Amino acid sequence: MMLGFLLARAGVEVVVLEKHADFLRDFRGDTVHPSTLEVMHELGLLEEFLKLPHDEVRQLGGQIGADFLQLADFSHLPTRCKFIALVPQWDFLDFLADHARQYPTFKLIMQAEVLDVITEGGRIAGVEARTPDGDLEVRADLTIGADGRGSIVRDRAGLETQKFGAPMDVLWFRLSRKASDGEQTLGRIVDGKMMVMLNRGDYWQCGYLIRKDEFENIKARGLDQFRADVASVAPFVADRTSELGDWQPIRLLTVRIDRLAKWFRPGLLCIGDAAHAMSPIGGVGINLAIQDAVAAANILGDRLSRNTVSIADLERVQLRREFPTRMTQGLQIILQNNVINRVLGDPDFRLPSVMKLFNRWPFLRRIPARIVGIGFRPEHVRTRSADYADFTD
Ligand SMILES: Cc1cc2nc3c(=O)[nH]c(=O)nc-3n(C[C@H](O)[C@H](O)[C@H](O)COP(=O)(O)OP(=O)(O)OC[C@H]3O[C@@H](n4cnc5c(N)ncnc54)[C@H](O)[C@@H]3O)c2cc1C
Repeated sequence: MMLGFLLARAGVEVVVLEKHADFLRDFRGDTVHPSTLEVMHELGLLEEFLKLPHDEVRQLGGQIGADFLQLADFSHLPTRCKFIALVPQWDFLDFLADHARQYPTFKLIMQAEVLDVITEGGRIAGVEARTPDGDLEVRADLTIGADGRGSIVRDRAGLETQKFGAPMDVLWFRLSRKASDGEQTLGRIVDGKMMVMLNRGDYWQCGYLIRKDEFENIKARGLDQFRADVASVAPFVADRTSELGDWQPIRLLTVRIDRLAKWFRPGLLCIGDAAHAMSPIGGVGINLAIQDAVAAANILGDRLSRNTVSIADLERVQLRREFPTRMTQGLQIILQNNVINRVLGDPDFRLPSVMKLFNRWPFLRRIPARIVGIGFRPEHVRTRSADYADFTD
């Protein structure tokens, strides 16, 4: 959606296909980081964006057994917004779609599920999709695969994926929040269990980590046991675990980390999770996808409006974004293998003493804040708005 918006804004004709009828789903995380807010500012949309109902997270912390660790402090970042905005992703996408629709070259087709790519003479020439009104063929000078972790586009285009595995999955659910609970968005590690709790005003969005493929066993042990497990990680919600009346509101989110060896083919470029599925660690996936979109628009925008995109241009997008992707995924892999893998099921897990320095020396909290909030190689909007661009040639 972001790339569609940026390209339409630059005067390029764009069609965005979305398989669902709306963006109203709860599985993608809501963390809009300072890097993304900076992009919104550069687009002149920040003020309006922040009028959407949102919560602001200025610090991240973790309860690890008896110790509380202050891990990240965003207040020193060299960005306009020194916080993470928690905005439901459907609001964010609706916001972008509404703004994109203001450009005559933008078209969004909902309930259009891409089933295959069209290949002509070794080049991807568009996609075939299914809609309630029948089959649809969209031909394009450039097809962008931005269809997420289960990307059909990358599969059908035969792009090779490197898989890095993940030791955990996440159970995703809500519990109501009381003023007495405290404010801070935080991770909790207690007795071999781990849960992340995002403060969403009147409720907590909870991500309870389980070992990969354990969900069926957890279900077999029964809901009472699960409620007790949740209460043992976060005792202050023990009085509310009965809100989990059955398994229905508890969604299993499977975690995977992978990356395409090559993000492109003639006529095709993959970005976001379609090019590199991100773990939820750090809540960076949405923001990396946005950064990919900005980089792709910067590199390809002018060329697309002149229809002169070459394979070298597509390669430039990968070269630009591969480094931040590798670095971020590398950190996620280190954390999942050395912390999460050890934490799950080990009631004796204790915070490594070196980590306690974060509590003693507040300036250390600026490092994770920078990695999470801005990331490696932040992108800035270089495309112009078509109103000002010179499209005479
Ligand atoms: C458990 C879990 C929690 C996470 N939490 C966070 C978090 O808090 N913060 C964060 O930043 N990241 C989080 N992530 C990662 C984040 O969800 C992704 O990195 C991010 O959504 C990638 O954005 P994307 O646009 O590439 O793909 P997606 O957000 O997956 O969007 C793909 C879009 O394509 C559509 N689509 C799919 N297939 C087709 C098709 N065949 N035809 C047409 N349309 C199609 C989908 O409906 C969807 O709208 C989490 C991931 C997991 C697994």
